[in-house]
Amino acid sequence: MANSLSTAGERPRARPILGCIADDFTGATDLASQLVSAGMRTLQTIGVPDTPLEAGVDAVVVALKSRTIPASEAIKQSIQALDWLREQGCEQFYFKYCSTFDSTPAGNIGPVTEALMDALGTDFTVACPALPANRRSVFNGYLFANGVLLNESGMQDHPLTPMTDANLVRVLGAQTTREIGLIDYATLRQGDAAVTARIEALKADGIGIAICDAIDNEDLFVLARACRDLPLVTAGSGLALGLPANVADRLNHRQDAARLEPIAGREAVLSGSCSRATLAQIDHAKQHMPSFHLDAQALHDDYASVVDAALACAEAHFQAHADDDGGPVLIYASAAPEEVRQAQQRLGVQEAGELVERALADIASELVSRLGVRRLLVAGGETSGAVVSALGVQGLRIGESIDPGVPWTTTLGTEAPLALALKSGNFGATDFMTKAWKLMP
Ligand code: ADP
Repeated sequence: MANSLSTAGERPRARPILGCIADDFTGATDLASQLVSAGMRTLQTIGVPDTPLEAGVDAVVVALKSRTIPASEAIKQSIQALDWLREQGCEQFYFKYCSTFDSTPAGNIGPVTEALMDALGTDFTVACPALPANRRSVFNGYLFANGVLLNESGMQDHPLTPMTDANLVRVLGAQTTREIGLIDYATLRQGDAAVTARIEALKADGIGIAICDAIDNEDLFVLARACRDLPLVTAGSGLALGLPANVADRLNHRQDAARLEPIAGREAVLSGSCSRATLAQIDHAKQHMPSFHLDAQALHDDYASVVDAALACAEAHFQAHADDDGGPVLIYASAAPEEVRQAQQRLGVQEAGELVERALADIASELVSRLGVRRLLVAGGETSGAVVSALGVQGLRIGESIDPGVPWTTTLGTEAPLALALKSGNFGATDFMTKAWKLMP
């Protein structure tokens, strides 16, 4: 089981220090990337694994899909993740949510935080979604996105998690039974000793969770130092920049935390994302590599022939370059809004999406199992989910970022390790699909 999460029978190595629970998949990757950039070797798992962890990492991020599910289910999954992380030896825990504090009126940030506190037997934690690099800041407990209050940022119209109040003390207060307090900017500016003193004062006042102000990364470093002894922190990905420094003397690979084993093999790009950024990336990529467009209606009419034709295109390219590096082939369903709308009208929105996801997942399996592809770039959040599950990926070692939020990774759980980059729709520069290969591990 050279490529599994489990190393039963192998010599035990250092245990992970930080155990993280993320409420969605791309958020988990974002957090993992931040930890790697701050010097922690990091592994991301897809859901809660049912085997012990391969040792040798400093941090583990369990990716859940628990942001908008019923609160009781989110609690159940988060506690399962916590139990597993504790079994692996993690010492401090991090509940990661979105930097726009995405939550339904019923939670799930508050209920999950409380459940984790109860399970860990702790009566105090912090909450800080600030991510200055993406212009998310907290001041006097109010969350700002792109320079305006959260409820004026567009988030008030979010289809699943509309955020109509920027005051996080109030928002979190409505989701929990615990008293909510504030660690304000003036305190942060005085340094971590002042923040620690404030934490003690809040605890003495019976406050269970403190919203923390933070405007730039320096504030997050101060906060991270003050959180050194808390069993649980809750935050966006920003706080991750500061936490590794608390345990710097125990990080053996600080300089090369992003180093991955090189993986040789054929290359492919699969895209089901119709986001504007992806469409521009495909236009660019088509000038540099052979490509095949999957038509949703054609898939509906004769699925097998279309999938076979896409694979034949890939095979022809690989055969023509049997003796040299021919670079990747691009297979994409991505289409401009009008074409997508037409397919959705004829096939149904859900049906069209699922059909395309299934085709790309089947193609991914064949590329890997039959055509020797070992390096794969996938565009689209839902598309990535479908591909990862078709390939049997259980975990990802996180490497260097290609563009912010999109690292190269290597897989665990697959028959042989693969190099995988999973890009959610709007991430990445226009040349993403061509430059990614030059940044391979
Ligand atoms: P993003 O990250 O850009 O939102 P996703 O993969 O999450 O990308 O979502 C894109 C959705 O659009 C997927 O369900 C995909 O199957 C679907 N899709 C892709 N191409 C087409 C198409 N040509 N017609 C209809 N649906 C499509």
